[in-house]
Amino acid sequence: MLDDEFKKLIQYSPHEIYIIDAVSFKYLYVNDGALSSIGYSYDELSSMSVYDINPYLTQEKIIELQNEENKEGKVLNRTIHRRKDGSEYHVQSLIHTIRYQNTDAYVVFDTDISEQVKTEKLLIKQTRLLNHQANHDTLTNLPNRMLFKDRLTQIIKSSTRHKEQFALLFIDLDQFKKINDSLGHHIGDEVLIESASRLGSIIRDEDTLARLGGDEFTIILKDISSVQGASTVAQKIVKIMKEPIKIKGHTLFISSSIGISMFPADATSEDNLIKFADTAMYRAKDEGRDNFQFYSSDMTTQAFERVVMENSLRSAIAQEQFIVYFQPQYETTTETIIGMEALVRWDHPQIGLVPPGKFIPIAEESGLIIEIDRIVMKKAMKQFSQWYKDGYNPGVLSLNLAMKQLNQEDFITTLLNIMNALQFQAKWLELEVTEGQVMDNPDAAISKLKEISNIGIELAIDDFGTGYSSLAYLKKLPLNKLKIDQSFIKDIPEDEDDMAITKAIIALGKSLNLKLIAEGVETQAQRDFLLKNDCTTIQGYFYSRPLPSDEITELLQKN
Ligand code: C2E
Ligand code: CA
Ligand code: CA
Repeated sequence: MLDDEFKKLIQYSPHEIYIIDAVSFKYLYVNDGALSSIGYSYDELSSMSVYDINPYLTQEKIIELQNEENKEGKVLNRTIHRRKDGSEYHVQSLIHTIRYQNTDAYVVFDTDISEQVKTEKLLIKQTRLLNHQANHDTLTNLPNRMLFKDRLTQIIKSSTRHKEQFALLFIDLDQFKKINDSLGHHIGDEVLIESASRLGSIIRDEDTLARLGGDEFTIILKDISSVQGASTVAQKIVKIMKEPIKIKGHTLFISSSIGISMFPADATSEDNLIKFADTAMYRAKDEGRDNFQFYSSDMTTQAFERVVMENSLRSAIAQEQFIVYFQPQYETTTETIIGMEALVRWDHPQIGLVPPGKFIPIAEESGLIIEIDRIVMKKAMKQFSQWYKDGYNPGVLSLNLAMKQLNQEDFITTLLNIMNALQFQAKWLELEVTEGQVMDNPDAAISKLKEISNIGIELAIDDFGTGYSSLAYLKKLPLNKLKIDQSFIKDIPEDEDDMAITKAIIALGKSLNLKLIAEGVETQAQRDFLLKNDCTTIQGYFYSRPLPSDEITELLQKN
């Protein structure tokens, strides 16, 4: 019969042909071509569904194919078959809806396209490689001038949008030409490769390091918060490039000259940023090489001042040139001292007393704050223990601590050790952290502050009102006290807004069950306003300036 003959044609076809139940997706029929490709017997396949031999096929994909099939009458799809022995191959399927033995079914004609897929993948890889080669320097594999310009354009756009600043560093190797001429290109190439890898070791993932050609490299430092950030990186580059390079029995000494332009302070266009960094680089060469210069000479001065400052802070730490002043905190209803804030002063051998505003920011950025705060902590606690021993009542000691300090792993052990050694009681201590520092990373701060609170030490949030706390976080923090920032107190009673804000902070503190203290209270009017609005703890020049400990002892005698 004709029917039977056609059946045989299908049966013997070397192409894979499957008929699948449209509801259960089980196999209703498979031909010899399919059996030999897939490696299962007819009986085995009859109890299997499409999911068994198409391991990456999902229900979503099937629904998508069905929708397409409804519209077009047939559908093409690519899938991966898994044979009985576990091996896989790519197929192209042509699918039609049919009726088969009175049920709705699909007939699927599959063609093995593994070879084609392999070729396609190779092509993609080659295209990528070509792209990479067009954009990268073959010697160092760094982005070349073209890609660098591209990145620079991108970064200008994104920095403009996010109102961020970035730095462009132009780096030139100082003795490269001499090495190249005297020792040959091979050695020169090695020097460039080594330089590229040293530069790469300094920057972060989000920065761009490129080789413009010859011995010229550029770096874009994204989103740096200050000129300082750029100068820190430049210092590291100057240092690392000076280390001797050993190549094929030669020990070579090179150095680098760096020019820096800042976006948006110096320029906002690609061309000018490059031109200015280049100009600054030539200035670095003029200054005797082996250094860095900002395009704006003010910035260079700042950077160098800071290096000097950092170095002298280091020796100040080694020599413990810090003294602690104390500023009393008063309970206005009784006019008595209930505590003191320890405020550090740097006793500089040439300059005299340096106020914290002049060195704390640099100490915080460089991490030196950790050691400084430990010195202050020890000195202040020692003095407090002494006062208690002598029969005075100085109340609670407030210590200003940087979040960096609290995040030190050994912070709590160190604190407990000092307390133990000085017989200092936990109830005499309160730690102040600024709102800004807490809100920089509130989740981390919450867990850290909880640990501290758990050992019975009270926590105050300093400069409150300046750091954009969210109420949600405030509720989660284990706080005991808000210190109303002095900027709100300063213009009371003239400034209506400040008075409203102060009242609002007092109300907020009360509703969260927190103690309150106002800072920077200088006048009778300010004191009266606070007292009237139920903030009865006050710190400020009205009562007392921060004083050295011997003057505080005199005050305590009267207290
Ligand atoms: P702060 O914690 O907000 O300290 C209060 C500052 O306000 C102190 O300045 C204090 O002298 C000043 N002040 C107090 N009462 C008045 C007043 O009535 N009027 C005015 N105009 N100012 C008043 P100081 O001592 O210069 O300290 C400045 C900042 O330095 C402190 O601000 C604190 O953030 C930081 N600091 C001070 N000592 C340390 C320390 O040991 N460790 C850390 N990490 N930071 C410290
Ligand atoms: Ca404080
Ligand atoms: Ca404060």
